Amino acid sequence: MIEITNLKKSFGKHEVLKDVSLKIKKGEVVTIIGPSGSGKTTFLRCINFLEKADDGKLTIGDISVDLKKTKKKEILNVRRKTAFVFQNYGLFSHKTAIQNVMEGLVVVKKIPRDEAKRIGENVLDWVGLLDKKDYYPSQLSGGQQQRVGIARAVALDPEVILFDEPTSALDPELVGETLDVIKKVAKKGITMVVVTHEMAFAEEVSNKVIFMDGGKVVEEGTPKEIFMRPKEERTKEFLSRFI
Ligand code: ATP
Repeated sequence: MIEITNLKKSFGKHEVLKDVSLKIKKGEVVTIIGPSGSGKTTFLRCINFLEKADDGKLTIGDISVDLKKTKKKEILNVRRKTAFVFQNYGLFSHKTAIQNVMEGLVVVKKIPRDEAKRIGENVLDWVGLLDKKDYYPSQLSGGQQQRVGIARAVALDPEVILFDEPTSALDPELVGETLDVIKKVAKKGITMVVVTHEMAFAEEVSNKVIFMDGGKVVEEGTPKEIFMRPKEERTKEFLSRFI
């Protein structure tokens, strides 16, 4: 279970997250939608300490952290339970696909290299890229790089995978193959939080959809509730742009 309570974050005078709370059950797929600049990415980055929140509480499994005064060790403990899939893939350019997947297993999880290689090859096979395992990111398409990014996250076997607009840097023809791999991750029963602009995907894959605007959760519910019967005017107005 993951619980975020009263999370607040400002950049200078700009209050980006005003008071965001969210509860995610084990195995749940939560998508976060909302207009550009509403704070979706910042919220996701605060869960993983890629941004430091100003206030709030975070619980992941058996760890509970006061976000106002986090210690280095707590940050490491939370990071060990999470994996992040970046919009721009975030791969090491000087490492091959298999080396990218192995890195976290060896360095963070302290798994012996042989074992890490075996896990890495299995996961690369699972995302359909075993034949590209010795390719460098520059030799792969955007969609393939993102599949390596997803394989790297899955290989870590984390408590939750955080996806930050995983298809928005891709050429339109590569979006489908990447969404298919993300759907496959969802079917595995891994807890996921996905920031996305892909409404059809959010409707298909989520257990819960969060609509954010102006640094707040405006409305949350099942895909049916949000996409078919939104209650809030702001949600209706936002969704009408996609019809
Ligand atoms: P998009 O859908 O366009 O990615 P978003 O909902 O994910 O938008 P965020 O990226 O979280 O929104 O940004 C929210 C606001 O915070 C924006 O106004 C952005 O300019 C600001 N912001 C984000 N990161 C920083 C930063 N490091 N320094 C200053 N301002 C920032």
